[in-house]
Amino acid sequence: MVRTPLDAWMMAKLAMTGSSLQIDALRKYQLTRLNAVIAQARTASPFYRQRLAGLPDLRDSSELAAYPLTSAGDLITQGLQLLCVSQSQISRVVTLATSGTEGMSKKIYFTAADQELTIDFFACGMSSLVEAGERVLIFLSGERPGSVGYLLAESLRRIKAECMLYGLVDIVPRAVSYLCETKPDCLVGVPVQLLAIANFFERWQIDSWRPKAVLLSTDRVPDSIITRLKQIWGCEVFDHYGMTEMGLGGGIECSAHHGYHLREMDLFFEIIDEHTEQPLPEGQYGEVIFTTLTREGMPLIRYRTGDIARFIPGACPCGSGLRRLEKIKTRKSQIAVLSPEHTFTLNDLDEVLFLLPGIIDVAAKVHLGEPNCLNIIVTALSDSLDEKKILQALRQIPMLALLESENHLCLKAAILPWDRNTPLPQGKRCFKITGNKILVGGA
Ligand SMILES: [Zn+2]
Repeated sequence: MVRTPLDAWMMAKLAMTGSSLQIDALRKYQLTRLNAVIAQARTASPFYRQRLAGLPDLRDSSELAAYPLTSAGDLITQGLQLLCVSQSQISRVVTLATSGTEGMSKKIYFTAADQELTIDFFACGMSSLVEAGERVLIFLSGERPGSVGYLLAESLRRIKAECMLYGLVDIVPRAVSYLCETKPDCLVGVPVQLLAIANFFERWQIDSWRPKAVLLSTDRVPDSIITRLKQIWGCEVFDHYGMTEMGLGGGIECSAHHGYHLREMDLFFEIIDEHTEQPLPEGQYGEVIFTTLTREGMPLIRYRTGDIARFIPGACPCGSGLRRLEKIKTRKSQIAVLSPEHTFTLNDLDEVLFLLPGIIDVAAKVHLGEPNCLNIIVTALSDSLDEKKILQALRQIPMLALLESENHLCLKAAILPWDRNTPLPQGKRCFKITGNKILVGGA
């Protein structure tokens, strides 16, 4: 098994010699950077000057737990107050719509140096699955400088891989034609979009081409999609963790495919109890929070991601001493709450529905009321798929089966015929919730 390239990347940055990364030296570097970032934010950001007033410097990184959290709401309401540079030094602003408050958005600001660090991490991460001379097709938006596809393309040039930037998948047959023309070694794209392409390949047995590796990006990756991509293409599938606030990249799987090794040169991660906000010991599930260690434009201190995960105890089989973050269990915005005891997640649905043949897209609508109703609308290629099979799949989820048997939930399914000229949806997947018992959090 190949050790994650993050070890060598960190050793080079820490000017460390020897055969393996010394974790103590990494933790010492992080403590130094945490204090530097706190000093920088206190000096230059009006928001943090006030928020961090009177707090002592850290003697140990565990003392960071005494510092206040930064929320998505802070980014929405405080915006420019978080900046540590003048606006003229900002080279990229990303505006993110939020699901919490209608019409509100958060803006994340990056300098050129911030973006350079993202490219540097992407280059390291991509070397997990691509070698010099190999060809990579990117199905992510990349037309604008600083966008994720643009930065990824630049990172691939640095590791001497050939890059083709397509943009998000729009019309499936058009994207498939481009694939067949270019025959890349590796694909990067949004999980559901690459599944649609793979299902199209399987249905019409289009070409003998197969990718060597696939990297799934921008949305949570259901295991069901990984399973289907491996079945159809026989390729290695890599998952990574990231969000715009992290500077896009946060961590990437190694060849062990058991958790993400993290971008620990640039980010310090913690897991806290989402209700008490207290730090949790290794192995326990809670909310992932992070502090930027090297961000210039808009440093974030203890930023709440809304993602639920844990650190995996023990060493990675790849031989790295770096800790691993387990795959995100769910995002707070992807939980449907009928009552405190009766919840299910979009991921619960994804894990059973994406295993069905020929899926192009799945929409999940929840209506809260009397009765509560879950309506699944599937767009599929397969003639053999019918509503009954979708309902059977849903009833494999114990919570849904229980809710239905107790008359707390009515399950409905419909199949839409697929129009091959209809563009695929482009945004992150989420529940569409109507009715009046809405209890969905997150941003
Ligand atoms: Zn590993």
